[in-house]
Parts: sequence; C-alpha cells; structure tokens
Amino acid sequence: MFPTFTLRYARLPSRFFERFDPVPVPSPTLVAFNRPLAEELGFDLEAFDESLATELFSGNRLPEGVEPLAMAYAGHQFGNFVPRLGDGRAVLLGEVTDRKGRVRDIQLKGGGRTPFSRGGDGRAPLGPVLREYLVSEAMHAMGIPATRALAAVTTGERVMRRVPEPGAVLTRVAASHIRVGTFQYFAARGDVDGLRALADHVMERHYPELADTEHLNRPEGERYLALLEAIQKRQARLIAKWMGVGFIHGVMNTDNMTVSGETIDFGPCAFMESYDPRTVFSSIDEGGRYAYGNQPGIGQWNLARLAETLLPLIDEDQEQAIARATQLLESYSAHFEAEKHWVMRAKLGLAREEEGDGELIDSLLEAMQTGRADFTLTFRQLSDVAASPESEPALLELFERPEVMQAWLGQWRERLTRESVGLDAIAARMRESNPRYIPRNHRVQEALEAADRGDFAPFETLRQILARPFDDQPGREEYSLPAAPTERVFRTFCGT
Ligand code: AMP
Ligand code: MG
Repeated sequence: MFPTFTLRYARLPSRFFERFDPVPVPSPTLVAFNRPLAEELGFDLEAFDESLATELFSGNRLPEGVEPLAMAYAGHQFGNFVPRLGDGRAVLLGEVTDRKGRVRDIQLKGGGRTPFSRGGDGRAPLGPVLREYLVSEAMHAMGIPATRALAAVTTGERVMRRVPEPGAVLTRVAASHIRVGTFQYFAARGDVDGLRALADHVMERHYPELADTEHLNRPEGERYLALLEAIQKRQARLIAKWMGVGFIHGVMNTDNMTVSGETIDFGPCAFMESYDPRTVFSSIDEGGRYAYGNQPGIGQWNLARLAETLLPLIDEDQEQAIARATQLLESYSAHFEAEKHWVMRAKLGLAREEEGDGELIDSLLEAMQTGRADFTLTFRQLSDVAASPESEPALLELFERPEVMQAWLGQWRERLTRESVGLDAIAARMRESNPRYIPRNHRVQEALEAADRGDFAPFETLRQILARPFDDQPGREEYSLPAAPTERVFRTFCGT
C-alpha cells in the first residue's frame, strides 16, 4: 500500500542523525487521512486497508526497507543559540518519489522519545496535531509552500500537558526537513566536511539547477554563495506570501525555517483578523519578536545566521567570505519588497505595474489599520466590489471609519481603468488571490476542543471548507467571518 521508500538522509554521514524506531502506541485509531495527498505520493489506494494504515501511521508497523531516524539540528530560539536540539519527537521514515518525480520526506511527529528529546516526552497532543493538519493543508490550498499533513492517528494514550490530553501522531510530508538550524548544528562543531556534505545534499535535492555542469565548473565558493542566494529568494517569496494572507508563524526560530522554502512547524501560528502589523498571538512570544510586521526582518536575521554557517565554504579568506555574504544579504530587502509588491498588487487586481502602486497599497493598509478592518474580508469584498458597486456597503461595513475607505475606493477605481482587462476579469482574478476562507482562530479552536471530546465532525467540516479557500461556499458563510468579541482568541499555545 505504501510507495517504495528511498533512504537519502539515512545515507548521509552517521553524525547527521540518530537511528531511532518509533515507539509503539497502545491503541491507535486513524482520525484523518489525506486521500488526494496519498494519491499524489503514489499510495495504492485501491489496496487501501484502514487497519494497516493505522498501524503504519502510528509507527506500530514500519514500511519495508526503512531505517527511521531523528535528525540532528541546532537553532536560535527567540535569539538564543542552542547547539543541540534535533528531532525530539519526530521520526523520519525516509523519502518517497511522488507521481511528479519529486522527492518527499515522510515523518511521524509524536513518534516517541528520541536521543534528542531532552526533558520532553516525545509525544504530541491531539489538539496541536489537528491544528497543524488544518493550517498546513489550508496554506497549501492557498498556494503557499508548506509541509503537508498525510494522516493523524490517536494513540489511545494520554499525554500530560497542563491537563491530560489525548495523544496523537501526525504524518508529515515535506520537500525535506532540513532547516537553517541543521546547518548551524555542523557550524557549531566546526565540522566543515559535514557542512559541505549537507550543502551539497540541499543543492541536489532543492536547487538542482545549481548542481548542473555549468555551475559545477564554477569555483566552489561561488556555488555555495549561489545556494545562499537561492534559499534567500525562496524565503523572501514565502514570507511575502504569508504577509499576503495575514499569516503569523509565531515561532520563526532558525530551527523552524526550512531551506526548501516551505512553511514548517505550525505551533502557535494564527491568522490576523483586524489589520495591525503589531499583532502577536503566541503565548510564548512575550516581546513580540515574531509579530506579523516583524516577520520579513526576522527572515533576514535567520538568513544571516545561515550565511554565517556557510562562510568557510564561500571563501578560505574569512574577510572575503564575510564581504561577499554581507553583500548578498543586503539584497534581501529589495527581493522581499519586490515579492510583497507582487503579492499585494495581485490582491488589488493590478496586473500592470505603475509608479504609484506602492502608495495605493500602503494607503489601503493604513485605512484598514485605522478602521480595524478584517484583513481577509476586506480583500475578498474588494474583489466583489471591483465588478459590482452594489457590494460596496458590505465592504464599508468592515471599517470603523468608512469615509477613509470610501476615499481610497475612488483612487483605486480610477487606477483600475488603466488595466488592460475589464472589471469582471479583474474581479475573477482577484478572487484567486484573496481567499474567502482562512483557518479562523476561533474555528480552529472549536474544532480542536470538539475533537478532544471525541467529536471529529467540526474538524472534518473545517478541513473540507479550507480545501477550497477561494471558492464561495453557499451555506458556509459563517466560516468566513471573524470572531465575535466573545469568541475572540487572543493567545495560542505551542502545545508541545
Ligand atoms: P518546536 O517548538 O516544536 O519547534 O520544538 C523545539 C524543539 O523541542 C525541537 O527540538 C523538538 O523536537 C523539541 N520538542 C518539542 N516538543 C517535544 C516533546 N514533546 N518531546 C520531546 N521533544 C520535544
Ligand atoms: Mg520546530
């Protein structure tokens, strides 16, 4: 039933990981299974057998030929360097090649105490597993690179958190689980051979264009600088996309930033409702380090940590290496701004590029902030307003100070006259950039609380809705609405 596994990471030098078999769980039940993803990965769904799937996704039974492992990594957590973190509860089974020829990691999160577990129990509570399931799949459906959720299994065990909670295992699929912190792990040990092996593996796997002969003939240092540049570009694009949907990652530690450019680790993440760049949800982010508006800068900070690890590969002369890496890092802001500009222009229906677009975007954001308007609904209603002016009152209702928004609408309408397509086409195109449905925090919370009581219906409903974020779904309007004051979620917990 499972596709054939390859062992790429397991064949890297043994100091890259600890071999570790998942610890069996007493009484597994499959509570969610992602059929379309399974199909994409090459599972034989005709032969799908629920009890076998349950055994596999709980870690109780291993697919043939795997050598499961916990990956070694380090990381800056809220700015403080920890030289040895590693997978404390995630177990990499190996890689499969999907139907499109892409290599994907399959990992069991919550697979038991590994040699990296430190004080942790190696397990995951059901709530955070389902939160990651919902949010990572929603991100994917919105066209944002993210790790995927293949299955969730309850274990029949309770895990002790603030209160006892049902235990669960998430099967996570990723382009790879290599993080900025993986590079830091080797750099912290002065292990330049390890760094080179890791960088070469990352190039081959995520940036094959850098491993072709043209690049291979370049001086070695150039190739590693090109790798840094490629990772920087993907991260700039990723974070711009987050900004475009109001996503707040919540724990952008260097161990939670992939080098593939996928969003990873949906711990205390949340979506902003009324627009304010200072928004923070995570209960552990007291200083607001990872607030919505800080994310682009933190991305750059994390990339600077990655650059430091690559210095010995970039140039033997350290000063030279620093000069070259610094020059590259300085181009991040321009990259990010260009990506964000692209994202935001699409949200406003602007395909042509014009001088004043940046100001038009900024003044909308300002109107949203002063008017405390819901970020997602503002853009979605704007898509409707583009083609049907009669939708305008519904848009203005989102604003505490509608007059500011009304004035802005005049400027925007005038700007749209210079697009090369008509208003209906603009509206249609905007609806593809502006989701109607996002994982609203109170809805997610409601679904997780019901699941803890054994009722998975709200989770199922939400997962179906979020699979089609850009479609109007008649009868499900309430899922598109922000929380009423009594339902508002102010803090999200890491739930580790
Ligand atoms: P996270 O906050 O999920 O990014 O995790 C940060 C670090 O803590 C990683 O090294 C995790 O593997 C580890 N960790 C988190 N939760 C647990 C747990 N329940 N048991 C063991 N290690 C954990
Ligand atoms: Mg993590």
